[in-house]
Amino acid sequence: MEKQGLQVAIDGPASAGKSTVAKIVAQRFHYIYCDTGAMYRAITWKVLQAGVALTDETAVKALLDQITIRFEPGTPVQKVFVDDTEVTLAIRQPDVTNSVSAVSALPAVRSELTERQRQIAEAGGIVMDGRDIGSTVLPHAEVKIFLVASVDERAQRRLKDNAAKGITTPLATLKHEIEERDRKDSTRKVSPLTQAADAIRLDTTSMSIEQVADKIAEIIKEKESH
Ligand code: C5P
Repeated sequence: MEKQGLQVAIDGPASAGKSTVAKIVAQRFHYIYCDTGAMYRAITWKVLQAGVALTDETAVKALLDQITIRFEPGTPVQKVFVDDTEVTLAIRQPDVTNSVSAVSALPAVRSELTERQRQIAEAGGIVMDGRDIGSTVLPHAEVKIFLVASVDERAQRRLKDNAAKGITTPLATLKHEIEERDRKDSTRKVSPLTQAADAIRLDTTSMSIEQVADKIAEIIKEKESH
């Protein structure tokens, strides 16, 4: 397949601003944006709905094989569907957030979603954000960014995001949840959260979203001109 643009991988820990920045960058370059975290959240939502145990790999994989996970354009956020049910808001609720690391650690889930993500990215012209995009899903991506920020800063950002969605989890709890999720995501056996050797690390603690997006856009332009 002829590639219609670059593959841009944006990885990093929870609430580092990946999706906000990825969306802005994708718009600027007229690239597709793919939020891989939403795909792990969607299967987790389905698992909770079905009452299947989070660690029952065979049952979870069987559920995943039965569902389609789709994105549709939407403002301010892309809409997410599991089959014909819209789950855009449901997948951001605390029950899904606190269960997703267990489901995403299952090797069968990872290999299936990795395969779906590679198909989405195949034609290029894509900004994909997640935990293992640069390291595993798209090891040949032309641009790889690893976004980090302090836990305090990330908890503050999540608090603001949550307020807009009517979720009222206190700051200290958010901080704890973020640390827990990073710990689980970084220590799982299959494709843990990790910075690819050739990724550019950006600490966004004291940067605005626009500054981060500008920096990534600069890196993409530089690559495009080669
Ligand atoms: O990006 P977001 O915080 O929505 O991701 C939710 C969860 O999905 C992560 O905590 C992680 O467990 C999982 N995930 C993953 N690999 C990715 C993207 C997300 O394991 N590429």
